[in-house]
Amino acid sequence: MMSNEFEGNVALVTGGSRGIGRAIAGELAAGGAKVAILGRDGDAAAEAASNLPGSGHGGWSCDVADSEAVNSQVKAVESALGPVGILVNNAGLTRDNVLMRLKDEDWELVMDVNLKGAFNTTRALTRGMMKRRSGVIINITSVVGLTGNAGQSNYAASKAGMVGFTKSVARELASRGVRCNAVAPGYIETDMTDALDEGQQEALRSRIPLGRFGAPEDVAEVVRFLAGPSARYITGQVLAVDGGMVI
Ligand code: NDP
Repeated sequence: MMSNEFEGNVALVTGGSRGIGRAIAGELAAGGAKVAILGRDGDAAAEAASNLPGSGHGGWSCDVADSEAVNSQVKAVESALGPVGILVNNAGLTRDNVLMRLKDEDWELVMDVNLKGAFNTTRALTRGMMKRRSGVIINITSVVGLTGNAGQSNYAASKAGMVGFTKSVARELASRGVRCNAVAPGYIETDMTDALDEGQQEALRSRIPLGRFGAPEDVAEVVRFLAGPSARYITGQVLAVDGGMVI
């Protein structure tokens, strides 16, 4: 859908070079936003930005787990595109293993990227949003953060942490005109979920009432709604986009 609800606004999407983040960047650009894509691979981020509808987008190399890098790249984004009014914390990764085999570094990496990454970008953008008395933050968590999942205790903890973070930021910034919500995708077909074999996929599909895996666009259109004016009275919510996996 082409319209212009984000005209004059700048959106920053972490992990917008692939998968769900790329689809989110596409929806926000289609709504008229100038979009900044951040990812560790700056070339991939720039390539994704150059393929978005409209113009004025850009890609930046940034590891969201690194707070100094986030602070300096946020400054670079704002001097190139203008003040960021929409932040989507989407960058994330998994390092799955059963509890006894999880290494310290598996725990730390997943926490640092998924949870601390969202904190780093949010903190870097909060002052400006509060001053302008407007802003929207959307955190991409996971249904696994709500239900837990055997073999994903590190990932589920990071995603559950994002839920607490979302609700706290929503409470803290509401009086300053800033909304913060989370979207919890179920099973979405991307590079992240590619690794499962046929048997695992079939078992998973049987647990989805709507009977199919999700596409990145299924999530991206919900993010567009939450970022836009129709969601002006919604803050602190976690919206599952999962075909009914968690009811
Ligand atoms: P992909 O693996 O397809 O893409 C991940 C994106 O995040 C890439 O753009 C990647 O770019 C970026 N990224 C990863 N680590 C970092 C980092 N340290 N700093 C900056 N960018 C980073 O993932 P999906 O699209 O599947 O997932 C997107 C989000 O949705 C994640 O938070 C994931 O947990 C969540 N999610 C996904 C589900 C699914 O079924 N696919 C289900 C529920 C939630 P680069 O490699 O260049 O850094």
